[in-house]
Amino acid sequence: MEDLVGKLHRERRLGACEYRSLLLCEDPQTVGRLHERARETAVERFGRDIYIRGLIEISNICRNDCLYCGIRKSNRAVSRYTLTEEEIMECCRLGYGLGFRTFVLQGGEPPQGQDSRIEAICRAIHREFPDCAITLSIGERTEEAYRRFRQAGVSRYLLRHETHDPGHYARLHPPGMSLENRLRCLDTLKRYGYQTGTGIMVGSPFQSIDSIIGDIIYIGEFGPDMIGLGPFIPHRDTVFADYWNSETAILKGKSHEEEAVELTLKLISIFRLMFPDSLIPATTALATLDPEGHQKGILAGANVIMPNLSPPSVRARYSLYDNKASSGTEAAEGIGKLKEQLRKTGYNISVSRGDRPGKPEEQE
Ligand code: SAM
Repeated sequence: MEDLVGKLHRERRLGACEYRSLLLCEDPQTVGRLHERARETAVERFGRDIYIRGLIEISNICRNDCLYCGIRKSNRAVSRYTLTEEEIMECCRLGYGLGFRTFVLQGGEPPQGQDSRIEAICRAIHREFPDCAITLSIGERTEEAYRRFRQAGVSRYLLRHETHDPGHYARLHPPGMSLENRLRCLDTLKRYGYQTGTGIMVGSPFQSIDSIIGDIIYIGEFGPDMIGLGPFIPHRDTVFADYWNSETAILKGKSHEEEAVELTLKLISIFRLMFPDSLIPATTALATLDPEGHQKGILAGANVIMPNLSPPSVRARYSLYDNKASSGTEAAEGIGKLKEQLRKTGYNISVSRGDRPGKPEEQE
């Protein structure tokens, strides 16, 4: 088994059965070696720098109805909000002062009529903060919208494909949504020159080891710049509210929480070895399930943290899952604490845009 870690490190790819063995491996020495190799690989490429991104949750209004998500459109219990352009600009100003040089604008999937407004906001951010990168994460848009956002100065886009298994996709999404369209959007984003991020929820309902292997193979072929991996966490107002009580975990003897954290960390390491230059966050969902999620993610090979830069008054309303962490080291204003936490782990915050190494200068 140790050989598999060596092989992945050398060859950057494994066969499906080999990924399965690594994902199911319970031997602490092998798992430790996997994380160690991934950590060393990240340090070789990025030194001990961790990139920070200021996450601005621009709206919790969503036209989609993904079954797992707390802000799905049919959830009537959510109080909906949309930040104004001025509120978003204020978040950026605050973030700039704190040292952020990337702003991630994320939200529920807005109706198509909102694209021009979002384009104008991105243009305004780009004008006022030309030395900063803008990342958008607002779901599936038309090709024309992606083209216009790019021209407005957006250089990165996050769109998790969630699962590459069509049967699994259909059990997580309503009939109107299609995996095919999501994958088409990802191809379009790449074609327009975005640094493109995709990824999955780990431990999502009905996920199997086979579907995770399918995701690894898809991501291996797609070649993203950013890879987002967060544990699935139930939300009380969704059909999966009781999922953790009703289903057994894939890994024997583990709770869903333990399994999701363990598999997320393994996947971070596997993708770091597959894509040494990629940008991989230690996500909020990981930090929500495990108080040491940031440190563990970084020690498994992650190199990005995305503290919350949204106005504190709306943070609780961007409720994708229960008990979402948004204070302390998860909050932009807690950056001092985060620095201290990282210092203890042997890392520093990098005050730079944090582009993927080797990427040609982004055209504006
Ligand atoms: N609307 C955009 C989209 O679909 O890409 C961006 C916002 S969406 C809420 C961001 C991510 O949240 C999704 O890609 C999904 O992986 C994650 N998410 C949603 N519900 C979740 C849950 N219950 N547990 C963990 N992650 C969740």
